[in-house]
Amino acid sequence: MENDFPKNNFLGFENFDANGNKPISSEEKEQMLLLVEEKFNDIFDILRISRNDPNSTKTPRRISKMLINELFSGRFEEVPKITVFPNRNNVNNLIISRGIKVMSVCSHHWQPISGLCSIGYIPNKSIIGLSKLSRIVDWFSRRGQIQEELGEQIADYLEKLIKPKALGVVINAKHYCMIARGVNASEEDSLMTTSSMRGYLLEDLNLRNEFLKLIENTNK
Ligand SMILES: [Zn+2]
Repeated sequence: MENDFPKNNFLGFENFDANGNKPISSEEKEQMLLLVEEKFNDIFDILRISRNDPNSTKTPRRISKMLINELFSGRFEEVPKITVFPNRNNVNNLIISRGIKVMSVCSHHWQPISGLCSIGYIPNKSIIGLSKLSRIVDWFSRRGQIQEELGEQIADYLEKLIKPKALGVVINAKHYCMIARGVNASEEDSLMTTSSMRGYLLEDLNLRNEFLKLIENTNK
């Protein structure tokens, strides 16, 4: 459903979903850093926080840098360079990477989502380096996200890149919007698990159980 919010921002740049990606130039980034800092100065005024307080003097700048260079960096950076290797020995079993860090921000409240991701696949013609999986997870995580879409984005991307016979992306993460506000959940109660299964891992229950068994102790 279309709503009435403008397609472009006041500078003429296209607005896009919080978990989308459109790379920006270094000039655009500098401008963005300045403008966000300025707006946070206003927010501090509205919240009546004195910037004579030495702990708050430079906080608007810090927040701006944190948002643009860290928490939302995956919105503005090019996709990481990923090398894939030929599956020379025709590996036809599960390859699993566990304990991949997920540091994200929820789109609804801009609170941290912190957790771990496990990725398993049965290769077809291509194999991907383990460190690259971490980089892909980080690139998709460093945006405004909801966990359900994060797992699907990672799975979609890997499916296109290496066309595996089976693929599973399981994320376990704590949601600080549930800990810091709302229901005031404990850390344990704020855990969400999502699973995105493709190919044989979706169709074959035995294989899926094997995968889940192999990753079960990862995220506790
Ligand atoms: Zn939230």
